[in-house]
Amino acid sequence: MLDIISQYKKLGISEKVYAFGQQIEEKLCGRFAQIDKTAEYNQLKVIKAMQERRVNEACFHYASGYGYNDQGRDTLEEVYAGVFHTESALVRPQITCGTHALALALSANLRPGDELLSPVGKPYDTLEEVIGIRKSKGSLAEYGVTYRQVELLEDGTFDYDSIKAAINDKTKLVTIQRSKGYQTRPSFSVTQIGELISFVKSIKPEVICMVDNCYGEFVEEIEPSDVGADLVVGSLIKNPGGGLAPIGGYIAGKEELIENCAYRLTSPGLGKEVGASLGVMQAFYQGLFLAPTVVASALKGAVFAANIYETLGYPVIPNGTESRHDIIQAVTFGKPEGVIAFCEGIQAAAPVDSYVTPIPWAMPGYDSDVIMAAGAFVQGSSIELSADGPIKPPYAVYFQGGLTWPHAKLGILMSLEKLVCAGIVTLPQKTE
Ligand SMILES: *Cc1c(COP(=O)(O)O)cnc(C)c1O
Repeated sequence: MLDIISQYKKLGISEKVYAFGQQIEEKLCGRFAQIDKTAEYNQLKVIKAMQERRVNEACFHYASGYGYNDQGRDTLEEVYAGVFHTESALVRPQITCGTHALALALSANLRPGDELLSPVGKPYDTLEEVIGIRKSKGSLAEYGVTYRQVELLEDGTFDYDSIKAAINDKTKLVTIQRSKGYQTRPSFSVTQIGELISFVKSIKPEVICMVDNCYGEFVEEIEPSDVGADLVVGSLIKNPGGGLAPIGGYIAGKEELIENCAYRLTSPGLGKEVGASLGVMQAFYQGLFLAPTVVASALKGAVFAANIYETLGYPVIPNGTESRHDIIQAVTFGKPEGVIAFCEGIQAAAPVDSYVTPIPWAMPGYDSDVIMAAGAFVQGSSIELSADGPIKPPYAVYFQGGLTWPHAKLGILMSLEKLVCAGIVTLPQKTE
């Protein structure tokens, strides 16, 4: 016991902060056990999919050039289809990020004159330009695809009446974002998403239901594709890459829709047949293998932080006891100094770039300064412990990730240490 305290001390965590963290952690045994059970279930699901597709050493071979008969790539796509219980999947390093995967799925399956509907309010920021909500070169709007949006009700639930009214002859595809992203609405459970899909299909059975699954993979035991989604889409530098994938995105779903995506990604006529995997396959397979337990670590970090900061009186979303549907945690500090100190702590606990001090900066696409903390092995990877906060009211910080629970714990304790040192937080006397 003494030993671990001195270990924390060497990294800059005071005994008081450590003790407060322990008090919180002790109350979380039940939650952590649940998270571990989900990881166990999902780990078995991934292993089963790999065994069924007979993953073998040759799958990790380097393929270059056109990539015809790239066995590692083709098998991996079958493994993803197995994990998500879909007919087909497209998993490629040529899909550069989550936004690209979503843009690809949309542009591949919509045609001029079609309408896209978001029944869950505003989509993720970067999709505004993809859709053309904000005017942009190459947007769906430029290609004659119209867009409709139905806001959520005040309490964050679906506005079924307005959704029904919004579905019309032109409605071709419905996009549902699982995670709240950087908004204050709740994230949706897979069951809720299933209810929404059933409702949409009851009005127009042929409509394509797509789910933006970013940050949601392996948080629950089922995925949106288990409850009727025709397409699920995500980024490999988030959950399913397990921290090892250096790039990439995936789309899993109905054969015909995935075929459309492949023709759009490469070229009509070529589709899935080309696109060499360039040596990233081992990282893709191994990352997927690790993803269930990595997601569990990130979830434990999120639950730990929610309980720490809730106990100290700060608003947290989700709260300390709510069930989780993604790995993002928001903490509202109410003043810029809180956001800055929190991010300094996350940075100081990182294995990479720990000596760097993050400072708020004007970032393209944001209307205020933003502070970002990340000491990641893969640039921008947000399955690794990372945090960012726009310097504007309500002065909330959003953080996510943690490849291991001990690292997530250190990061959160370090954030608390910085807040205590800055005189922003005063720890309560030990209760009991
Ligand atoms: C991260 C994210 C995206 C975009 O992914 P990038 O890899 O950042 O392009 C889209 N939707 C949601 C909900 C996300 O969390």
